[in-house]
Amino acid sequence: MVTIVCPTTGRRVPTGIVMDRAEFESAVFEANVLRCPACGRIHTWSKQDTELRETPDAS
Ligand SMILES: [Zn+2]
Repeated sequence: MVTIVCPTTGRRVPTGIVMDRAEFESAVFEANVLRCPACGRIHTWSKQDTELRETPDAS
């Protein structure tokens, strides 16, 4: 699961994008938008904001 950190709450949240490590390494993410499950706002994120996690809560 590709995750980002919510800038409002500081919590790690899932983007809903599931991929394995190899796919993640070669993936390009630009100007993505997410309705945040932590705060309900819309966040724009790019690859530098992401981290690949087994579970989004294991930060
Ligand atoms: Zn948020």
